[in-house]
Amino acid sequence: MAILIGGAWPYANGSLHLGHIAALLPGDILARYYRLKGEDVLYVSGSDCNGTPISIRANQENTTVTAIADRYHTEFVDCFHKLGFTYDFYTRTDAQHHHQSVQDIFLKLLDNGHLYTKKIEQAYCTVDEQFLPDRFVEGICPNCGAKARGDQCDNCSAILDPLDLVDKRCKICGTEPEIRETEHFYYEFSKFQKELEHYVEHAEQANAWRGNAIQLTKRYLTEGVPDRAVTRDLPNGIDVPVPGFEGKKIYVWIEAVAGYYTASIEWGKQHGVAIDKWWNAETTSYYVHGKDNIPFHTVIWPAILLGLNSEALPKHIVSNEYLTLEKRKLSTSQNWAVWVPDILQRYHPDSLRYFLTINAPETRDADFSWREFIYSHNSELLGAFANFVNRTLKFIEKSFDSKVPQTAVDKGMQAQIVELYKEVGQKIESGSSKAALDTIFEFVRAANRYFDDEKPWITVREDVAACEKTLATCTLLIQNFAVLLKPFLPFACEAIEEMLQIRGEAWAPQLNLAEEVVNVAPLYERIDVKQIDEELEKLAANEK
Ligand SMILES: [Zn+2]
Ligand SMILES: [Zn+2]
Repeated sequence: MAILIGGAWPYANGSLHLGHIAALLPGDILARYYRLKGEDVLYVSGSDCNGTPISIRANQENTTVTAIADRYHTEFVDCFHKLGFTYDFYTRTDAQHHHQSVQDIFLKLLDNGHLYTKKIEQAYCTVDEQFLPDRFVEGICPNCGAKARGDQCDNCSAILDPLDLVDKRCKICGTEPEIRETEHFYYEFSKFQKELEHYVEHAEQANAWRGNAIQLTKRYLTEGVPDRAVTRDLPNGIDVPVPGFEGKKIYVWIEAVAGYYTASIEWGKQHGVAIDKWWNAETTSYYVHGKDNIPFHTVIWPAILLGLNSEALPKHIVSNEYLTLEKRKLSTSQNWAVWVPDILQRYHPDSLRYFLTINAPETRDADFSWREFIYSHNSELLGAFANFVNRTLKFIEKSFDSKVPQTAVDKGMQAQIVELYKEVGQKIESGSSKAALDTIFEFVRAANRYFDDEKPWITVREDVAACEKTLATCTLLIQNFAVLLKPFLPFACEAIEEMLQIRGEAWAPQLNLAEEVVNVAPLYERIDVKQIDEELEKLAANEK
């Protein structure tokens, strides 16, 4: 079975924070799980390197758009690698292949008759000699009188047209822009209204989208999807490949969401593989992102695919709610955020993966607090899981000369863990990583109770056969945890496999006992709770 997984494209004008990872992590869990199941997984994403905010930042720092994009793309790649993300292809939207494929898509939409041109008025700066993107125009909000950007007023949330602003100014040089006529391509989104309505109804019946995606998409469709300009007068981006439109760029609405497809094309070329099986009506696809990205994946991208006569519409929408920080909304401008490069310097990637999954903002906002994070590591990840592994394997090392007793295991415990594969698998497939991990950890706690009840530290002296059975059973459970937890805690699972000299490559019950243990070492270290206050102080000190 072909499984396409598309992770949202982070915008390359600033570092990743935990909110990004909370939204993107379900994609890696799905990819790892389906690969273990033996499916043909294609997991793609990349850095979004075009658009206005990067231009603004480049202007502010007196550098180039490419320099900014390079800096953050490199940082993203490093963070994803350290977190164990297993993208088959992680690219960027300023790559040559992406430009080429997007231009092909644009021309096909034009050929298919879904693009038309329209003359509109737009702000033009005679000093900078360019049309100004919406966000480059600043002035007074006509609605509330506050200072506002051309696209939206932060004070009253009104969606604005830059020409509506009072006392308009160019953000780059501060002079008043002229109003000039310019011509743009519009996409006939309205023509796909009916098809999109059917599509959402079908998704709702199939229970294939998160509730927030269904609700938000229905609201957009009730309001009616208007035709939108899909080209812009922008300083950077993908050129409109039509004579007479030189200097104009294809807008992010077409260009960025098309990245899933263009990345697939390029990956196929590099590997000599036809990508059709990941892009047809039967393909199981997952689109993984935060809730602010929902309409791009449930309205814009499907409408473009329909315009291309493609039947590969997104199947599953895995759209997490937001992550708050210490009960407050994350704010990058106020530096109220935990930055990924920073937290990875001091904490284990599994700790992050565990916390952001077991507390995932799946159906409502979830909170990251340093206290909860450190306690969840110490009491659950280390206290329940890692300790079970360590106490079992250490016992074997010490009392059985590192040889796993080759004896019959407890049938009840074995039956229970075998049962888990189906239950956990179904939960992962339905996009509920949190419930899946919860289910496994419930059994981790049961495994600890089993160890306690069997008291091998007593039977080792009084009833060796019973002791051997206990340790054989616990070892078998550990071998199965190393598979069941692989999508969630890949680093610990790898360490277990090294200690037991095994390799679990398939999502299937492991029933052959490992033979010996080598180099038994704790999976994780305890985190000093003093760090809670240190982290909170640092957070407060860095807030702007
Ligand atoms: Zn306003
Ligand atoms: Zn200017």
